[in-house]
Amino acid sequence: MSHIDENLKELSRKVPQNVQVVAVTKTRADREVMEAYASGHRAFGENKVQEIREKQPRLPNDIQWHFIGHLQTNKVKYIAPFVDLIHSADRLKVLKEINKQAARFQRIIPCLLQFHIAEEESKFGFSMEEVEAMLNSSSFPAMKNIRLDGVMGMATFTTDMDKIRREFRQLKGYYNQLKEKYFANTPHFKEISMGMTNDYSVAIEEGSTMVRIGSAIFGPRSSQ
Ligand SMILES: *Cc1c(COP(=O)(O)O)cnc(C)c1O
Repeated sequence: MSHIDENLKELSRKVPQNVQVVAVTKTRADREVMEAYASGHRAFGENKVQEIREKQPRLPNDIQWHFIGHLQTNKVKYIAPFVDLIHSADRLKVLKEINKQAARFQRIIPCLLQFHIAEEESKFGFSMEEVEAMLNSSSFPAMKNIRLDGVMGMATFTTDMDKIRREFRQLKGYYNQLKEKYFANTPHFKEISMGMTNDYSVAIEEGSTMVRIGSAIFGPRSSQ
């Protein structure tokens, strides 16, 4: 048995059934993705448009591709034909473009609203005020080719687990508010994408429904 297979099995013991594991394959070779595939895994995540676009046609058709990185509007068209979930919708402009490209390909693309919960300026994402302004604006209901399935966030890069927990708790709070106010009758608005290799257990304790895990499956990464 390969280490990738072992790692996936160990993860499935640690992650509850109702939490989906997205295997983050950035920088990994096709051979490594195929090892995870062979052990039955189907949900894979990439953070760069170029990389996901190169990998998708080379790899099996029944893979579910999750886009988890910062998305430039001029690149949405490349992933629109096949992407299964965009975790990183972080501004109105990109949602409008996703809607436009999804319509071109006659699809409805599920998206998560990425919130800025970390202390670092470098991380992208909406504030609660921005999301509420968007949901209350007239342009929003017109976007028929996107479907909002929940929220996503990345905690500060720190070893301070209490800080990470507070940030995840804040994201869960945003989710609860949105659910109650705008999506109470929308069953598919149910996802909270939070947690990576170093913080997924805290994320799960704080209500995560989707963890995005690279290193704990494929081993340490040299870059990105
Ligand atoms: C790389 C990445 C991950 C996974 O990181 P690991 O620490 O290897 O688990 C999760 N989410 C995003 C947005 C990433 O870019």
